Order: sequence, then C-alpha cells, then structure tokens
Amino acid sequence: ASACGSRQDELAHLPEAIRAKVHNHPCFSEEAHHHYARMHVAVAPACNIQCHYCNRKYDCANESRPGVVSEVLTPEQAVKKVLAVAAHIPQMSVLGIAGPGDPLANPERTLATFRALSEKAPDIKLCLSTNGLALPGLVDEICAHNIDHVTITINCLDPDIGAEIYPWIFWNHRRIKGRRAAEILIEQQQKGLEALVARGVLVKVNSVMIPGVNDAHLAEVSRVVKAKGAFLHNVMPLIAKPEHGTFYGLMGQRGPTPQELRDLQDACAGDMRMMRHCRQCRADAVGMLGEDRSADFTLEKIA
Ligand code: SF4
Ligand code: SF4
Repeated sequence: ASACGSRQDELAHLPEAIRAKVHNHPCFSEEAHHHYARMHVAVAPACNIQCHYCNRKYDCANESRPGVVSEVLTPEQAVKKVLAVAAHIPQMSVLGIAGPGDPLANPERTLATFRALSEKAPDIKLCLSTNGLALPGLVDEICAHNIDHVTITINCLDPDIGAEIYPWIFWNHRRIKGRRAAEILIEQQQKGLEALVARGVLVKVNSVMIPGVNDAHLAEVSRVVKAKGAFLHNVMPLIAKPEHGTFYGLMGQRGPTPQELRDLQDACAGDMRMMRHCRQCRADAVGMLGEDRSADFTLEKIA
C-alpha cells in the first residue's frame, strides 16, 4: 500500500529541464517511485558537526531515518554491492550516499565511490546528502563526478536558533561551539546552495522540524531556499526517542505531531512544492521506496 497521499503531479510546476532530469527519480516524483528503485551505500562514517538529534551509532538524519545501524562499506565494497543490486533489481535508477555520517566529511571515500560508479554503471544517477559545512569547497568535485542532485539539510537561517540545534562544528581543525558555530554552518550551507544552483546541479533542501525550536522559522527557510533556486523543500519530523541524541535525553525535546507536521508542510507549500512521500530511508536502503531489501544484499550475501 502506498502512503503517498495525493497523486497529483508534484513536478508539474518545474521547468522542463528539471522535469526531464527528475521524472524517473523515485524520490522526486510520486509516480516514478512506483516504477524505479533507489539505493544508498553507507561509505561515510565521519561527521564534521554535531546535531542535538544525532546518535552516531545510527544513520545520519540528513537524509535517513536514524534507528538502524548500517554496515559501513569501503568504496570497493560499495561498488560491488551496487553492481550486484543493479543486476537483481533492473529498476535501480538512483544511487545515493547519505551517511552514516556526512558524505562530504569523508570526501575521499565518497568521491572514490562516485568515480568508480560513473565508469562502471554510467546509467545510474548519483546523488548525495550533506549538512553543507564542507560543501562550498567541494562544488568542483561534485560537478566533475556528474552528481545529479544534492540534498542539503538546512534547519535554520538564524544562528540563535542554530545554536539550539548544533552544539558544535569542526572547522579549520578546531572545534567551534555556540552561536559562532551555527553562523559558520549557515553561511557555508547558503554558499553551497548558491554555488550548486549556479553550476546547474539540482538542489533539494531537507529541514528537520523541531517543535518550539525552528518550527515557526521553517516557512522563512522555505521561502529563502526557493528564492535561491532549490527545487524542492522537504520538511521531516524530528524523531524524538531516548536513543536519538541529547535533544530527547537531556532536553526532553519532543517531535511534532502528525497534524503539526502537515500544518507546517501546508504553510510551506504555498511557497514551494513539498516532498511528502519521502520515507526518511536508511543510509543503506535498497529497493523501491517503502521497501527495504538491504538484508538481501549484505556483504556476505554478495561475496
Ligand atoms: Fe549526525 Fe548527520 Fe548531524 Fe552529523 S549531520 S551530527 S551524522 S545527524
Ligand atoms: Fe528518497 Fe527520502 Fe529515501 Fe532519500 S530518504 S531515498 S529522498 S525517500
């Protein structure tokens, strides 16, 4: 059964050039997600920031639902796995790198995987998700590797709000805390967004809705990222469980109710089409959206 809600063409508003790029992408088109499959490979263990909602034992909340430990792969293992999956699942059209840390905090591993795949499986579209801190410095590499689209998790534009979400960042070999850390992260995210759009790379923005922290601010985030050229904005609920980060454990932060999430998505939808069928997949998800065949393709099974 599909949990997608409405069937209207959520790509209809996009310029033809962008529609042509995303029509067969299961994450962007509700229609395509019934016909095409995607997979994520977990090659990126390190992260360069700390989010209060993160637990490093789980997958990054940039793109993926925390809560399930992924098997961290070397680039060689990842390529082998992608080729094995593509041989079994002919609808495999998209390969993403989303964690379990930040793909761009592990640039050698992430780029080596993309490089090998663009040679060995040139028909598979490549994408990555990032917190954006290292993004501006890697835009040339992203373009050189033919990465089709990038997802940036942008939770705020205001460093005072950011300071409540990010206790620290690791920047220029130093740990930076508090408002200054959030200010640098926000600057880098916006620079990265602008640079990718200028180079013609599709950019989607994810935001984690954190009640009482950034919920009232996310309509503004939506407006600004759209004005800068992001083509989709995806508001995801904070998952507040004891094992997920200090937000819940130390601060008693709750996640949004389904109604609060829908209200915010409606408030943002006036500005920009939202991506309501995103499943917050695991960093090692395999298969059609809503389906997880990762257990069929563990290293042992493809060896
Ligand atoms: Fe965790 Fe992802 Fe935040 Fe890094 S960017 S701290 S991996 S949630
Ligand atoms: Fe697509 Fe969302 Fe899953 Fe990423 S997390 S593969 S955008 S549905």
